[in-house]
Amino acid sequence: MKVLVLNCGSSSLKYQLFDMTTEEVLAKGLIERIGIEGSRIKHEKTGDEPVIFDVPIPEHKTGVRKMLDALLDEKHGLLKSLDELIAVGHRVVHGGEKFARSVIVDKEVLNVIEECVPLAPLHNPANLTGIKAMVELLPETPQVAVFDTAFHQTMPKYAYMYGVPYHYYEEHRVRRYGFHGTSHAYVSHRAAEILQKPFNELKVVTCHLGNGSSITAVDCGKSVDTSLGFGTVPGVLMGTRSGEVDPTLVLYLMEKENLDTKLMSHILHKESGILGISGISSDLRDVEEAAEQGNQRAKLALDMLCYGVRKHIGAYAAAMGGIDAIVFTAGIGENSSTVRKMVVEGLEFLGADVDPEKNNVRGKERIISTDGAKVSVLVVPTNEELVIARDTKELIKV
Ligand code: ADP
Repeated sequence: MKVLVLNCGSSSLKYQLFDMTTEEVLAKGLIERIGIEGSRIKHEKTGDEPVIFDVPIPEHKTGVRKMLDALLDEKHGLLKSLDELIAVGHRVVHGGEKFARSVIVDKEVLNVIEECVPLAPLHNPANLTGIKAMVELLPETPQVAVFDTAFHQTMPKYAYMYGVPYHYYEEHRVRRYGFHGTSHAYVSHRAAEILQKPFNELKVVTCHLGNGSSITAVDCGKSVDTSLGFGTVPGVLMGTRSGEVDPTLVLYLMEKENLDTKLMSHILHKESGILGISGISSDLRDVEEAAEQGNQRAKLALDMLCYGVRKHIGAYAAAMGGIDAIVFTAGIGENSSTVRKMVVEGLEFLGADVDPEKNNVRGKERIISTDGAKVSVLVVPTNEELVIARDTKELIKV
């Protein structure tokens, strides 16, 4: 029972082939530089060394075809025939208010993803291109769309509305949507399993800390608030994104520096955050190292990140009327014991405390709170592809 998972970006395409009887990854790969010179496929059959195919890939459809060729390859592939694929699951960034769960793709679904392009102009067009290429190449195989925004559709209206005139919400759909939904859903679910508690009775704050970061309050299985919003800038300090800023600061800078919207958007998305504050790098590893050597701006970036995460945990504990668990995931959350320690320090009043020895872990599931602490703190590596594969299998009900 094989399911292919596709994550199609503007110039890249990631894929994983799952055997859904065992949930094992049979192969995975990355196609880079689509439409640019030097395009290539890095394909890895589980258990084998990765192989690189240098092939011209002028557009996504060729990329999808080459990926299928790699999966059918006599030496490096795993499929004898494409009929073995029971379905294909696609990551789609924005489902607007229409999709609160994953869906089987049909014409109507394609139209809605298209309608959401203005809300995610960089991502939805690329996601759509991947789906359309797949539909063309495998017209008989069911395609499923899994949305980053869907998990957050359970937020109450008072949490997702912004205080601007109401008609802007009606006319332009401006509201908090939230992102990284599949990740927050997966790690909160896993946390309940690890703690052996019912998911729908647990109050969890999930901290997805990567290049892009978001914190989510998961109250009895439902997302009730999240730190990313209409777009992907608010919340905590990110690699190159600012996190929360006062909107009047944006207007002030635009006026003072004579910046147009494109430039201002570039500053908020690409020049801010850990990079903008530290002046060193957007990569937290570089910044942690510089901070250790006494670089004050690197230390400030680290302090700002951890303070922001801690503040959100406190706010979400208040939003849910309590908290049972804090979960760390994604590149920083899974790997940085420093960040985890700094975030939880100061949350003792809630009953959260990290055991330094247990916290000495990278990329593995583990409870890192002290024995008997009221709030469990966990590291749970995220697995968005598995969620997509599971939803896909579930929807086509084979
Ligand atoms: P993306 O949002 O692009 O998926 P990731 O989840 O891969 O990002 O996270 C990337 C971040 O994780 C980078 O800031 C990187 O520095 C950080 N990271 C990865 N490994 C470590 C580590 N060992 N220690 C600290 N930070 C790490």
